[in-house]
Amino acid sequence: MKIHEYQAKELFRKYSIPVPDGRIATTAAEARAIAEEIGGRVIVKAQIHAGGRGKGGGVKLAADANEAESLADQILGMTLVTHQTGPDGKVVGKVLVEAASNIESEMYIAFVLDRETSQLVIIASSEGGVEIEKVAAETPEKIFKTWVDPSVGLMSYQAREVCFALGLKGQAFKDGVKAITNLYRLYEGEDATLAEINPFIVTSEGNAMAIDAKVNLDDDAGYRQADHAELRDLTEEEPLETEAKKFGLNYIKLDGSVGCMVNGAGLAMATMDLIKLCGSEPANFLDVGGGASAEGVENAFKILMSDENVKCVLINIFGGIVRCDRVAQGVVEAIRNIGQIDVPIVVRLEGTNAAEGQAILEESGLDFHTVVGFQAAAQKAADLAGGD
Ligand code: GDP
Ligand code: MN
Repeated sequence: MKIHEYQAKELFRKYSIPVPDGRIATTAAEARAIAEEIGGRVIVKAQIHAGGRGKGGGVKLAADANEAESLADQILGMTLVTHQTGPDGKVVGKVLVEAASNIESEMYIAFVLDRETSQLVIIASSEGGVEIEKVAAETPEKIFKTWVDPSVGLMSYQAREVCFALGLKGQAFKDGVKAITNLYRLYEGEDATLAEINPFIVTSEGNAMAIDAKVNLDDDAGYRQADHAELRDLTEEEPLETEAKKFGLNYIKLDGSVGCMVNGAGLAMATMDLIKLCGSEPANFLDVGGGASAEGVENAFKILMSDENVKCVLINIFGGIVRCDRVAQGVVEAIRNIGQIDVPIVVRLEGTNAAEGQAILEESGLDFHTVVGFQAAAQKAADLAGGD
């Protein structure tokens, strides 16, 4: 789960990682009041679940409260497009108004789960800031990495090693060691999957602090992180995915035109591959799961049908634990409840109770394209969707 910068900074405060004084505003008047309280120059920052805001025009420096008000007025409600939002961008509903810092240098620090080594990797660079992707691509030698073994945890020499790699000196070095140690405590304590500071800065006063904060939290740890539920911002998430979660369905929206309903994550992946090979694009990933009831199937079908990009549905079921007749029942009921369905539905049923499932589809009197064979079904669906 992603959270906003201002929420990540609250977590930073909880773990004593230094951040500038700042508060969240939803109106320009609030932004002005916060800027007046802080005094002096402030920075006005769009809060969306995506990075690259600086380059996209969502982070602006204000000389005083007047300017903070007019900048907040500009940023609030704007559709911010960054290299992470996709072309549609995201509408800004909140801005963070924060005391501006005098930046001497910008560095990069991230803690992220390395699935390959099953360890936590710390990634750091003395060349942080908005061009970090370019640094990684063009001068990878400027990126320092060290791995933390989960059975021993972060060793203090590693925190120092990172600070040497960042080129920190004096007070900034001490601040850096503390920040890294505390970021590790946060990562572990909050069950994060990513904790990133870009930029971590040295100020012209010689101390170091975090002026941006990005934290992703592990959804699977929700049961032992009661405070995390309220950090979720549903307006930033895909509404169809939110709806699917309510029913315990594994649905991910994509941009293609073939709506897929499949049982089993592996078969669902293979189905998406085959649709692509047949010249079309999947509209979603959907694993209805092994134990899907007719009702679960009905909900799944409704969710994938409410994506207006869907031009054809492909139901690909290999009956094992989930029985084909149950799936057929769920689909028929879903269609009856929805009423009119104006896209073709291709069905391939194989395995447990396939014949019974087939009979239910036929007896329904509804119009299905039943196809034998995985490849043939994918080709049929791709053709009916018209490719894209
Ligand atoms: P991002 O682009 O979404 O990662 O947003 P950031 O919070 O990282 O801000 C982008 C850039 O704005 C930073 O890399 C800084 O160069 C600049 N910036 C952010 N806060 C301040 C500040 O307080 N003072 C100054 N001078 N620049 C800032
Ligand atoms: Mn940043």
